[in-house]
Amino acid sequence: MFDSLSDRLGGVFDKLRGRGALKEQDVRDAMREVRIALLEADVALPVVRRFVDQVTEKAVGQSVLRSVTPGQQVVKIVNDALIETLGGEQTAELDLNAAPPVVIMMVGLQGSGKTTSTAKISRLLKDKQGKKVMMASLDVNRPAAQEQLRVLGEQTGVATLPIIPGQQPTEIATRALQAARLQAVDVLMLDTAGRLHVDAQLMNEMKAVAAITTPRETLLVVDSLTGQDAVNVAQSFAGEVDLTGVVLTRMDGDARGGAALSMRAVTGKPIKFAGTGEKMDAIEVFHPSRVANRILG
Ligand code: GDP
Repeated sequence: MFDSLSDRLGGVFDKLRGRGALKEQDVRDAMREVRIALLEADVALPVVRRFVDQVTEKAVGQSVLRSVTPGQQVVKIVNDALIETLGGEQTAELDLNAAPPVVIMMVGLQGSGKTTSTAKISRLLKDKQGKKVMMASLDVNRPAAQEQLRVLGEQTGVATLPIIPGQQPTEIATRALQAARLQAVDVLMLDTAGRLHVDAQLMNEMKAVAAITTPRETLLVVDSLTGQDAVNVAQSFAGEVDLTGVVLTRMDGDARGGAALSMRAVTGKPIKFAGTGEKMDAIEVFHPSRVANRILG
């Protein structure tokens, strides 16, 4: 995860740490390299600018430059700025504070990892939090999408709403809500349909489902490998529905980190989970401070 960004930054900071004393120019030179590293990592330009400006302002202060370990102090400042950019010290938890069944609506483009993430989060809620979970697929466009969720439900031991061929998404949503109530389900996970592009039909369908089920969480699933595109997709969705968070998938293959570093600052939406592989347990709650630690090695 973030290997190439980590290597680049590691090189910059090794140089800084290696020096006993630091001059303002040394810090400015290092920050120029940090800027290039972040741009190469596909971090959005305004985010890079803000990051570098903030770090530079703090790092060229006399209290830092005159300290015994100026290099380490600069790295600490960068670490703090990374945490802030990734979403802050506070981990964004799922909000399940509503009368059951609490609805979590999963949205996103086709292929982003939505169905996989639906099953992974359901499994987490069941196994780690002891919740009674039900999953329902509202994807009537992609053949076999409903069947895919059913199979994942069997693998993870999470109940799925029985499939009735020919039903429309809003009908399935209504039926899912009824079934969840009857069976005293704590959390109802709705896997909505994805499309290849953000389009009006996709948005209208999502809004109709949201109107029926009043989700407590609406999580957007995006592929971290698509970098700034992931952030653009998030902005489009955020303009249409009340997104409460982001699930960033394929972080296992993401050497650059541009989507993770831009998401919060550009969209204002917290990353709540990171997908880290194809297996059902390959998901992590997104902790900005841990991710910052990984980036800085
Ligand atoms: P959907 O169309 O958005 O529902 O996407 P799927 O959930 O079907 O996922 C598409 C592919 O991506 C599948 O092969 C998944 O196994 C894979 N996938 C999903 N999340 C991750 C992840 O975090 N890491 C990796 N390596 N693969 C993932």
